[in-house]
This record gives sequence, C-alpha cells and structure tokens, in this order.
Amino acid sequence: MATETEGGCQDSADKHIVVSGKLIDELEGLCEEDVFGCYQCGTCAAGCPFMDEMDLTVDEVLRYVILDKKEVLESKTIWLCASCFACAERCPRDINITKIMEALRQIVLRQNIDETDLECLTDEEKRSIPQMAFVSLFRKNIG
Ligand code: SF4
Ligand code: SF4
Repeated sequence: MATETEGGCQDSADKHIVVSGKLIDELEGLCEEDVFGCYQCGTCAAGCPFMDEMDLTVDEVLRYVILDKKEVLESKTIWLCASCFACAERCPRDINITKIMEALRQIVLRQNIDETDLECLTDEEKRSIPQMAFVSLFRKNIG
C-alpha cells in the first residue's frame, strides 16, 4: 500500500510499476521482436556506448523479459538507452533491441507515475538535477 510523507508526497519507494499479465504479452502489443531468439551472446552489450552507466547490461534486459522479471521496468538501463541502434546492428539473431528498449519505456510511461512534483523533491535533488530538466518540467506543466 502506498504511504505518504509529510506534505502529501508519495514515497518514491511506493511508486511501483504494476504489470498484472506477462511482460512478453505487454511487449507484443508494442513491438514484434522475437525476444526468445536471443541466445545471450552479449554482443549487444559489448557495443553499447552507455554500458558503463547501466545497472542491467543490454543482454540482461532481454533475459529479464524472457524470464518475466518485471524489475527490468525499474532499471536505469531502459532510460539510458539513446536509441543509437548499435546493438540492433550487431545482433547475430537480428533482434532489434532498440525497439524493445523503447517498448519497455512505453510500458512504464503508460503507468502515469508522476516523478516530477517539485514540492516533493529533496533539497539535495533540487541541487543536483540539471536546470534543463526543470525547464522541461515547467514546459510540460504549462502546455
Ligand atoms: S546480441 Fe542479440 S542474441 Fe546476442 S545477447 Fe544481444 S539480443 Fe541476444
Ligand atoms: S540502442 Fe540503446 S541499448 Fe542499444 S547500443 Fe544504443 S544505447 Fe545501447
């Protein structure tokens, strides 16, 4: 059950992404890639320019989807992906991993979890978040 901190802010630990069915079924509606064709060679991860910053390697993302481990939706990796297509170009099974990353982001966005309530940011977050992110947020909120 969600808990609220003082001021009505929802604890970020409670903002869980809930997918009731199988992850693969959600994905199928968004992209047609054959996730089960992956044989975990790791070639995609080896060529990803953002691998050092990711919490799951690119091949692990595929493995999580295959095993229906929904924690993949909470991973930084899907947001750090810059859609450069390097992994898709290199995959020996011709799996378009870039499309899979995009589909995973779509699943999260459809949950409508709002992470951008300014009143709920800590002082540390306000100091460390790039100013451009605040500008984007204001633009989003004023249409
Ligand atoms: S390169 Fe293709 S087959 Fe190899 S781990 Fe990545 S997705 Fe799987
Ligand atoms: S498309 Fe995303 S996951 Fe694939 S190599 Fe580029 S940044 Fe990495």
